[in-house]
Order: sequence, then structure tokens, then C-alpha cells
Amino acid sequence: MGSGVIYREITVKSALTRVQGMPFAWSLNPYYGCERACVYCYARDYHARRGRDTGAGFDREIDVKINFPELLTQELRRIRKRETVALGTATDPYQQCEGRYRITRRTLEALVASPLPVIVITKGSMVVRDIDLLARLDVKVCVSIGTVSAELARTSEPHASPPNARLEAVRRLVSAGIDAGVLAAPILPGLSDSEESLDAVASAAAKSGATFFSTRPLKLDPSVKPHYFAFLSENFPALLPSTETRFAERVNPERIYTDALEERARRARSRYHFEERPFRRPEPTTPSQMRLAI
Ligand code: SF4
Repeated sequence: MGSGVIYREITVKSALTRVQGMPFAWSLNPYYGCERACVYCYARDYHARRGRDTGAGFDREIDVKINFPELLTQELRRIRKRETVALGTATDPYQQCEGRYRITRRTLEALVASPLPVIVITKGSMVVRDIDLLARLDVKVCVSIGTVSAELARTSEPHASPPNARLEAVRRLVSAGIDAGVLAAPILPGLSDSEESLDAVASAAAKSGATFFSTRPLKLDPSVKPHYFAFLSENFPALLPSTETRFAERVNPERIYTDALEERARRARSRYHFEERPFRRPEPTTPSQMRLAI
């Protein structure tokens, strides 16, 4: 487990969280906080809303929801509609402590007993540990890789698996017959938003056999800005003024920027072969829709 990280075992009252306005109906987050410590992480804002510290309180103090899989088993019995469940929307289900606690693994075991489509989102190569369970689910695994630069990843996502390890995870998942692709998210202005950078990620994803490649621009909630700006100040000070201006009084970049970014991503996607698959059973969500929401 991560050095200098405090783990608290807690019990929670519910596992499934109802989600509005997303292409999935429920989210599952087996941990509070995330020791990956990504400098841009939007989930820091969820911590702020709960009155908790968004810095070390988010990424060095992890709450482990020890009764989560058992609760989920009970809650799944009450779900009548075939709705999509997303695992890992506010924490990485395969962060370091999962190796010891195995809450995510037991969550997947609970899901195997249900017919619901599942989306798994992670920056962790540990996901391959659960290939045996994933192969029994109607699942899409979104491996989040915003850059193939090991150095940029090391500074901006200090405790995530290196990009090469994540790409290898995609390869192993796809080889095992699991629908897995690359969610390049978030794309960082001035750092990973160039045509060349997007092309490099798309190319690497295609070589790994990814079935989809999608992107998401950076979003900076007020409680996240100090962390991201501190990262820029330390590592890329020349980018700080333009980024502060871009996100002044706003959370998302302006439309003209996101449209141009999407166009570059579309061109990168078109240069390689990605075979988007629907869920095995009828289901409206596609990876294209996912990139709008995750
Ligand atoms: S892995 Fe995901 S949830 Fe964890 S810190 Fe990074 S962006 Fe946030």
C-alpha cells in the first residue's frame, strides 16, 4: 500500500448511488479518496462538498468501505430495470490498497450475479487481476490514459500505473475477450492537447487492441484549481498565466477550445482502427456517450 497513506475502515449505509444526467444510472465507489493523487482530479470537489480536505485529506487519507460488497448484493436484488452501473467515478477501484482489501474484487463478484451492464474506469494495471470476473460480466473497461509521456504522467498522476503498464493492461484485457479501450482523460491544455500528443495516445491504444478511444477536456472546479495551479507553478510555470485566464470564472474550457480539441481527437481516432462494440445485450450507452460524462 502507499507509504504515508492513512487507511480508515468504515461502514456505509448504501453502495449504489443514483446518478442523474449521465449515460449510466448508478455509480459505485468502493473507497472515499484516491491515493493516485492526480493533480487535476475532479473527485477532490466531492470531498469539498462533504466538508473534507481536498489535498492530503483526499489522496493521503483513504476511507475503505468494508461492508460495500455485501450491501451491493442486497441492493442489486431490488433493481428491476436493466440500467448501467459505473464503477470508479470518484475513486480508482484499483488503487494500491485494493491489493490488500479486495473490495473491488468482491464488488465484481456481486455484480456477476446480476444482469446489469457495467463500466469500469481505472488508471491501474491491477485491473488484469480480475480478468476472470470481468470475462463473466457485460462490461466495458475504460483505461484512463491522457498521455504516453511517462514524465508528464509521473508529475501529474504521481501514483497511477505508468502509461505503458496501463496500455499493457488494455492488451491483456482485450486478449482475454473483454471489451476494453482508452479514455484519454483529462486532456491538459498546453501539455497533452496537441495533435501529436493525441495521435500518440490513439496510436498506442490501437496497438494495444483498444476497442475505443475517447477524450475528455480538463474540468477545474474551484476546489481543484489550487492543486492544479500549484502543479503548473512547480513544473510548467510558463503555462500558469494562460491556464488561470482560461479557467477564470469558469469550470470548463470555452466552447471554441473544446470543439477544436474534439476535432483533433476525431482526426486522431480516424487514423486508426477502433471497433466500438455495444453492450452484449441491448443497451443505449456507447463509448462515445461515455466520454461526455466521465
Ligand atoms: S485515479 Fe481517478 S479518481 Fe484517482 S486521483 Fe486520479 S483522476 Fe482522481
